[in-house]
Amino acid sequence: MSARAFVIGHPIAHSRSPLIHGHWLKRHGIEGSYERINVAPGALPGFLEQVRAGGFRGGNVTIPHKEVAYRLVDEATTRARRLGAVNTLWLEGERLLGDNTDGEGFLASVAGSVGLGWAEQVHSALVLGAGGAARAIVGALLDAGVPRITVANRTEARARDLVAFSPDRIRVLPWDALPEGLAETGLLVNATQCGMKGQPRLELDSSLLPPDAIVGDIVYVPLETELLASARARGLRIVDGLGMLLHQAVPGFERWFGIRPEVTAELRAIIEADIRRTA
Ligand code: NAP
Repeated sequence: MSARAFVIGHPIAHSRSPLIHGHWLKRHGIEGSYERINVAPGALPGFLEQVRAGGFRGGNVTIPHKEVAYRLVDEATTRARRLGAVNTLWLEGERLLGDNTDGEGFLASVAGSVGLGWAEQVHSALVLGAGGAARAIVGALLDAGVPRITVANRTEARARDLVAFSPDRIRVLPWDALPEGLAETGLLVNATQCGMKGQPRLELDSSLLPPDAIVGDIVYVPLETELLASARARGLRIVDGLGMLLHQAVPGFERWFGIRPEVTAELRAIIEADIRRTA
């Protein structure tokens, strides 16, 4: 089988995944390709049938296909089942398998920014948002052993849905009560769209956080959000969204091309330049 992989979405022109995987293919001298393919929602089952028939080793799945693709794979990993969504597909024989690597990407980005062992120091995390990315992050924080996780979301019912992941360890904070939750937060993560270019600001006073808190923002346009800038100004440790984007790509590349690639400063600089150029 030829070494071909894809990213499918609708729209897909904005995806930076081809730049990431293209860099790794070149870096490792692999004769392969990673192709951007626009698949309209109704065309997803047919596309996945083509994948099963061969031609590709697998690929990435992005908006709006992550949940439907999960229902169409032959088998999904435990973490993908918990989320009901896949972002990475690969073939084993004629069986199509699915995984969700967003949570792993988030954990690796935190470790890359603040060092290994951070999870043992964090007793309480506060996750803002309850969409696909927030769900992956909450799942990953549970797996990393963070004892208490608080979720705050504009639409509270979506946050309450997340409690089922681990009723003993997850609680919900009303969006309006956010300031009250900050003083006891060791890790704050913005997993909403707020603060992204063209989206509303995130109204949050980072001075209410403890001085040893870690502040993460998965928004990466701009590269340094207002939240991260204010946390940095206070001397808090920060984790930006580009790290998660880069690290979530690692497991897929390894499955399709057989080499575990590295997230290097060189790759980061390439994607940063692209974001600055296009944002
Ligand atoms: P999603 O499933 O659509 O969820 C969006 C979340 O943002 C929901 O919790 C939503 O709250 C909240 N939100 C949207 N507008 C808001 C507002 N004005 N005020 C308060 N909350 C608001 O999207 P997603 O896939 O989880 O992605 C969320 C963000 O993360 C996006 O900016 C995306 O680009 C980024 N992201 C980054 C990475 C990375 O690798 N760095 C990976 C995935 C996603 P409601 O439930 O109330 O609507």
